[in-house]
Amino acid sequence: MKLLQDVSSVRNFTQKRAPEQEIGLVPTMGALHQGHMALLKASLRDNDLTICSIYVNPTQFNNPDDLEKYPRTLEHDLNFLKDVGCDAVFFPSNQVMYPEEGSQLLQLNFGHLDKILEGQHRSGHFSGVGLVVNKLLNIVQPKRAYFGQKDLQQLAVIRQMVDEFFIPAEIIAVPIVREPSGLALSSRNQRLSTEEKKTAAQLYQTLLYAKEQYKAGGDLTTVKQQALNRLNGHLGIQLEYFEAVRMRDFQLLIDRMEADTVAFCVAAYVGEVRLIDNVVVS
Ligand code: AMP
Repeated sequence: MKLLQDVSSVRNFTQKRAPEQEIGLVPTMGALHQGHMALLKASLRDNDLTICSIYVNPTQFNNPDDLEKYPRTLEHDLNFLKDVGCDAVFFPSNQVMYPEEGSQLLQLNFGHLDKILEGQHRSGHFSGVGLVVNKLLNIVQPKRAYFGQKDLQQLAVIRQMVDEFFIPAEIIAVPIVREPSGLALSSRNQRLSTEEKKTAAQLYQTLLYAKEQYKAGGDLTTVKQQALNRLNGHLGIQLEYFEAVRMRDFQLLIDRMEADTVAFCVAAYVGEVRLIDNVVVS
């Protein structure tokens, strides 16, 4: 497995390949787990070469404490990638990714997507995500790039950006990988105690409950209220939002949308850790 730390070494690696060889990119922030594994396996299946990037991107963190405490496990990650058969790993420094001064940074505004859910609660988050994903797609120039449905709104932001900028990469969505309890795998779960992990599983249990009620014909206001009551009544969960959106444009829903695919999305703190999750109802 090739270890790449700057732009020119990535370019050397990609330019040396045979012209017909297709590249898949799996962008991550490291502390790799079975959720990342699903993305890597999809890329290894579809492409001749897979490049995984590991970069804890400071511009997408609105909370300095969250950035500082984000788990960093490079040695484990490199072994993990070697074992799965990844061809190369790109793990740049901040200086490589952001050579310009902070004040010079480009800002991206995703309109409606920036104003709801994660965009509303994490100011500047999607600008940072857009910036770093744009940089990674330009550096690697993959045929395909893989993203998890765990970050459903991020996927919508990236699809919008790739369309607007005519970026010639296919964006592939990969389903959420969960623990047996239903808790969605996340690098941040490393910061949860055993007790907190049990509590955190309530997020998915509540999403499932809402999905079942909605599928059974329940009125959306009632379904959402029941979900809110369930989560607010749970000691140890500090809810940020529980919402239903229309998948095709991320409009917040207040009424049933029979003809549309709908997603229930949740964000909450369990202890000091902010978690997000979602379920899609089609
Ligand atoms: P992260 O390292 O948390 O930034 O995640 C890197 C990529 O892995 C993103 O596209 C995430 O959506 C995806 N991912 C993270 N956790 C999961 C999971 N439990 N299941 C599927 N994909 C995931």
